[in-house]
Amino acid sequence: MEKTNLKGLDLAELDKWISSISEKPFRARQIYKWMYAKNVCSFAEMSNLSGDLRKKLAEIVDLSQLEIQDKRESCQDDSVKYLFRLKDGHAVEAVYLVAGRRVTVCLSTMVGCPVACPYCATGMMGFKRNLTAGEIIDQLLLIQSDLNIRATNIVFMGMGEPFLNYDNVIKTAGILNSELGPEIAARRITISTAGIIPQIRRFTDEGHRYKLAVSLNGTTEFQRDELVPINRKYPLRELLPAIHHYTKQSRRRVTFEYILIAGYNDSAADARRLVKMLAQIPCKVNLIPYNETEFLPYRAPSEDQLNRFLQQLYRAPFAVTVRRSKGQDIAAACGQLYVQADRSS
Ligand code: SF4
Repeated sequence: MEKTNLKGLDLAELDKWISSISEKPFRARQIYKWMYAKNVCSFAEMSNLSGDLRKKLAEIVDLSQLEIQDKRESCQDDSVKYLFRLKDGHAVEAVYLVAGRRVTVCLSTMVGCPVACPYCATGMMGFKRNLTAGEIIDQLLLIQSDLNIRATNIVFMGMGEPFLNYDNVIKTAGILNSELGPEIAARRITISTAGIIPQIRRFTDEGHRYKLAVSLNGTTEFQRDELVPINRKYPLRELLPAIHHYTKQSRRRVTFEYILIAGYNDSAADARRLVKMLAQIPCKVNLIPYNETEFLPYRAPSEDQLNRFLQQLYRAPFAVTVRRSKGQDIAAACGQLYVQADRSS
């Protein structure tokens, strides 16, 4: 008999499942806490469940849907990249990053990605499938258990476009934020999108309190058509008003990620267009010098070029930060995640 997967169930679903196996409703809350808040990986550790119940659950439930297949630690900083094998043979990566007291885990939401940004290693893999909520949250739980840490921040910025797996991502964020679960504050959970307009509107209408980040990477339709191909479907002229609407409705700033690629989008004219384009939107801009990978021809701008770009932003009405990516030596930085040996067909 195939075992039931409990990871990824929210409390209402767990309640329903526990009553389907004729157990008392309070057991659902106990199991929920053990899985998500206490991060235990076996029923044997769930000490407030009776011995009989633990035995019964171990027979019918599969507690983990992933296994750690590989782990690479950076020599440059404290980041660690994990390779997880999924039950169907596919694989995904997730990254642990530390900066002071901030412990961030970057989660993948898909195997591969259909958006196919040409500068991104994940985009080269093609799209295999969406991850379930259980497969997304289990990346975090396994990393926490392996490193004996607690994440303070979550970013949905790993492999895949989170807003093309909207329901599973929002469900995972809800579990992460829940009182009986890891209880990570909504403002510490960031969902990053390449600009899927219908889901930005849905996110706005549903009033979520998670942080929204948008990968901009270009200041003209032409540039963005090339670097973020989803722009051909959801062009800048429609994307920017949708984001502006989000900031008005939510009364929150949006973060724009701008990956600087030498010779593509790093000129002084680009910087001036960026200021003009975002002047009316409450936002912050993260400039990310491109993280080079061995498979792709794109390059990072020189320090001089980066400084020239920054000079043009001096009077911008929004905050600008330069994000020096961590984990570059283990290909764990933004745009570098790539699974070479995908065993499934
Ligand atoms: Fe997909 Fe993001 Fe890579 Fe673009 S940058 S291909 S949206 S994972």
